[in-house]
Amino acid sequence: MTYDVINPATEKVVRSVELASVEDTDAAIARAAEAFRTWRAVAPADRGRLLRRFADAVDADLENLAQLEVENAGHTIGNARWEAGNVRDVLGYYSAAPERLFGRQIPVADGIDLTFKEPLGVVGIIVPWNFPMPIAGWGFAPALAAGNTVVLKPAELTPLTAIRLGELALEAGLPPGVLEIVPGAGTVVGQRFVTHSAVRKVVFTGSTGVGKQIMAGCADQVKRVTLELGGKSANIVFADSDLAKAAAQAPYGVFDNAGQDCCARSRILVERTAYDRFMELFEPAVQGVKVGDPSDPATEMGPLISARQLERVASYVPDDAPVAFRGSAPSGPGYWFAPTVLAPVSPDDRAAREEIFGPVVTVIPFEDEADAIRIANDSQYGLSGSIWTRDVGRALRVGRGVEAGALSINSNSSVRYSTPFGGYKQSGLGRELGPDALDAFTETKNIYISTED
Ligand code: NAP
Ligand code: MG
Repeated sequence: MTYDVINPATEKVVRSVELASVEDTDAAIARAAEAFRTWRAVAPADRGRLLRRFADAVDADLENLAQLEVENAGHTIGNARWEAGNVRDVLGYYSAAPERLFGRQIPVADGIDLTFKEPLGVVGIIVPWNFPMPIAGWGFAPALAAGNTVVLKPAELTPLTAIRLGELALEAGLPPGVLEIVPGAGTVVGQRFVTHSAVRKVVFTGSTGVGKQIMAGCADQVKRVTLELGGKSANIVFADSDLAKAAAQAPYGVFDNAGQDCCARSRILVERTAYDRFMELFEPAVQGVKVGDPSDPATEMGPLISARQLERVASYVPDDAPVAFRGSAPSGPGYWFAPTVLAPVSPDDRAAREEIFGPVVTVIPFEDEADAIRIANDSQYGLSGSIWTRDVGRALRVGRGVEAGALSINSNSSVRYSTPFGGYKQSGLGRELGPDALDAFTETKNIYISTED
């Protein structure tokens, strides 16, 4: 079976990709299981060197990878270059890990006690279509560094950069089978990662609904699982903040990648005394977002990924929706949706509660700190969020009060490869990136040695 990859900015077919069957998936898992026997035994310095070579190969191919993502996912060329660079940097960061995968020596009676961090085996990584390159890298770089081998399923909609990364790994000298890219349907390939006993861990990023099914499926084998799921993050703007900066940056905190970002700050909470002024400043900022041809370096927002996603997003903006103001979008072919601001919106409205995954934001006033925290936490999700204030005590009080894994103060940035990333509540389970990611790809083994005569 094949799948026609569509360019979402033009609706033209880019390439046809062969989809793996269950038998193909089993064969890829078998190759990865075989490769594990040698990969885990590669000397730490050599494993680190191979990962650095892989990073260099990604760097040398950066422009090609970025262009592939523009064509396949409609990402702006600026974002796509950052994304390919992120894969390189994450590989670079974790290339230092094999030589630093320390265990401990723990004081005990009558002997010596040692712990070891041992690889799990084959790790299955299931990647969504919204950030095909970074999310793949956040999984495979620490997994490989810890001595695991990987089978990786890209989203059906966006397989091209993952396929290329698999080729680059081989060109860099990673042995065959260490990183197997398996394009195919979620219900076929992804599901097989869950049920196959040689896959010892599943890393899933995508919708909360599918994440729950994966977690339930993994329970059958007590299979390890990391989940990065949806979000409905709050951008909390206090009256004492630099309002001009908060308003100027707010569009990019939610409309970047056309809102198809699990960290999108899709609820803007504004202190009531500053609400009118914020909206005055926010309107020109929204209208100034450059939406159009993603291959133009000046473009700030491209199309949605698919006709289906366009339909889904549009359902949150019916004819009688309370549209405060909108940006622009091209007409003609492509899955375009103009940046849209909904206000006034009750926190109970569907648009204020559900993850829209498109360029639609709701603005909600709040009375004081306690009210802001209450509204922000009134969600099944808890992934990211921002707090804008000049009062450092308030920033930390509110920051400690919001139930979310990745917050920023006076900034809308969520992700740095050197710091932990992941969600509270139904936004996920476990953390990726940062210094502790290796823990999610290793088992701790304890060995006690008697020193008695
Ligand atoms: P999805 O169905 O959760 O897809 C994510 C990944 O899981 C894809 O690779 C998908 O494969 C795979 N998959 C689907 N069903 C599976 C199953 N039963 N077993 C194993 N793997 C499976 O997400 P979507 O339908 O593309 O998007 C729906 C909504 O999810 C979006 O509108 C958004 O709200 C949310 N979402 C969130 C994130 C995030 O980063 N948190 C990412 C994507 C989507 P196929 O592509 O082959 O179906
Ligand atoms: Mg789906």
